[in-house]
Amino acid sequence: MSENISVLGLGLMGAALAESLLAAGHHVTVWNRSPAKADPLVAQGATRAATPAQAVEASPLVIVCLLDYASVKEVLEGAPLAGKVVANLTTGRPAEARDLAPWVAGRGAEYLAGGIMAVPQMIARPGALILYSGSEQAFDRYAPALAAMAEPRFTGDDPGMAPLLDLAMLTGMYGQIAGFLEAAALVGSAKYPLGEFTSSLLVPWLTAMAAQQPAWAEKIESGDHSTVVSNLEINRSGLETLVRTFREQGVKPDLLLPMKTVVDQRTARGLGHEGLSSLIEEL
Ligand code: NDP
Repeated sequence: MSENISVLGLGLMGAALAESLLAAGHHVTVWNRSPAKADPLVAQGATRAATPAQAVEASPLVIVCLLDYASVKEVLEGAPLAGKVVANLTTGRPAEARDLAPWVAGRGAEYLAGGIMAVPQMIARPGALILYSGSEQAFDRYAPALAAMAEPRFTGDDPGMAPLLDLAMLTGMYGQIAGFLEAAALVGSAKYPLGEFTSSLLVPWLTAMAAQQPAWAEKIESGDHSTVVSNLEINRSGLETLVRTFREQGVKPDLLLPMKTVVDQRTARGLGHEGLSSLIEEL
């Protein structure tokens, strides 16, 4: 079903979102602070709005993708929001989403907070995911249209939930990138070809390790860290070996050290017999 949808914010991400909605056959109205960014979309059939108020006026579903929450409030202030659904896909903190939701509701609109798990090039392609939280009624009404941008996943009525899960996923990603960069520096110190190490050794290893994580999640949820594949003490010793090796190879272990610090703290308290999942108790 073709919907009327407005997109406010046509940066790299907003433009990709608007383009995917146009390609799916929706009637898209676009607004951007610097008007020229709307030109390619207008050439593809979008309608240009001269002001945020005009853009909001044009459609019952208003998608916002701006720099930050401060710019979202600035842009929506004074716009005729009553009766609209506002899907704010701007990255922000859970607290900001919980603050904006009543601000939007107070102006008579339903609110969805979003967390985009994709880069612009992935929009409308398999693998792209957008997390939503807030008004389930609004999500159910527009999920088919939102699916043009990325798989839509509703995560609960707390508006802060999608931003929180977005940041949790980024946390996992940064941990993985930190591990990759340290491994790459170590491999580089021995002049082993990094591409070969990455594709034939590291990626299969990380994939096998990632497959263990649901079992870790079960342990953490149950609070039972007693069953051990390898205990904290052996990991303390392993991290010590790693850090010494880094120093001997002339590589800084800085991205690895925070983990070692927490392992050292917990083993120093006599808890070395526990499994590695017990580190969650330190966090
Ligand atoms: P860009 O820097 O490309 O675009 C920023 C947008 O915000 C532009 O449309 C800009 O307008 C607008 N803007 C900034 N400040 C104001 C303001 N005070 N008033 C009005 N408009 C303003 O960023 P992206 O498009 O990449 O990112 C947009 C959001 O999407 C961010 O929250 C980002 O975290 C999120 N996101 C981006 C991803 C990515 O890979 N790019 C991935 C996942 C999420 P103007 O053109 O006039 O400067």
